[in-house]
Amino acid sequence: MKIIMLGAPGAGKGTQAKKIAAKYEIPHISTGDIFRANIKEGTELGKKAKTYMDQGLLVPDELVVDLVVDRVNQEDCKNGYVLDGFPRTIPQAEALAELGQKMDYAIDVDVPDENIIHRMGGRRACVGCGATYHLEYAPTKVEGICDACGKELILRDDDKPETVKKRLNVYHEQTQPLIDYYTNAGILKTVDGTVDIDVVFQNIVEILGA
Ligand code: ADP
Ligand code: ADP
Ligand code: ZN
Repeated sequence: MKIIMLGAPGAGKGTQAKKIAAKYEIPHISTGDIFRANIKEGTELGKKAKTYMDQGLLVPDELVVDLVVDRVNQEDCKNGYVLDGFPRTIPQAEALAELGQKMDYAIDVDVPDENIIHRMGGRRACVGCGATYHLEYAPTKVEGICDACGKELILRDDDKPETVKKRLNVYHEQTQPLIDYYTNAGILKTVDGTVDIDVVFQNIVEILGA
């Protein structure tokens, strides 16, 4: 099963993509995670991507497309994958279509802007493994410490309110047109992203089939 997650920054794409990947045993491919890993390792790609990410802007298409193409062509993606954070522009969607891999679903996790600002303030990310939590909605067992690896949690620089507003504008301008694109392709499914994490997931499983 080949799945695309759509939705504003903070809508819950990553949270749901991880659950989908676990249940259906397919790789979770997050372009944001790939960039953050490159930044941590100090690669050339990481250095280039960081200048855009820090400003709340999208990384240019040419830096994103090749790395996703390489990833989905790997052996473990043969039976499917869940794309989280890609495509984010029409040219990225077109590049994906040109690969000739048929996508089964584009799931739009729908959350209004007002909720997003509040959500992002509470999002915490692990410096070790990148796991994502929320102070209120997805807390760790011990405050400030990752359940998975025991390392410290931080507020991502790009989750500060000013940058979140910028990212929302970028989302509406560059990414939201993908909703029409995948509606026309006949694979768009919308889920309400404002309800509990487990309820959102149940609704997704209803779409994908148990
Ligand atoms: P979120 O989970 O909040 O939606 P991500 O972790 O997916 O954010 O992405 C963080 C940042 O990485 C984005 O704001 C953008 O700068 C960059 N990025 C990630 N994926 C893409 C993409 N497909 N195209 C361009 N930039 C991207
Ligand atoms: P995205 O990948 O779309 O940027 P995340 O999955 O990282 O979004 O979720 C953003 C924040 O909101 C995280 O702190 C996460 O724990 C929290 N969150 C995700 N889904 C929900 C939900 N349905 N209700 C409340 N909080 C949520
Ligand atoms: Zn961790």
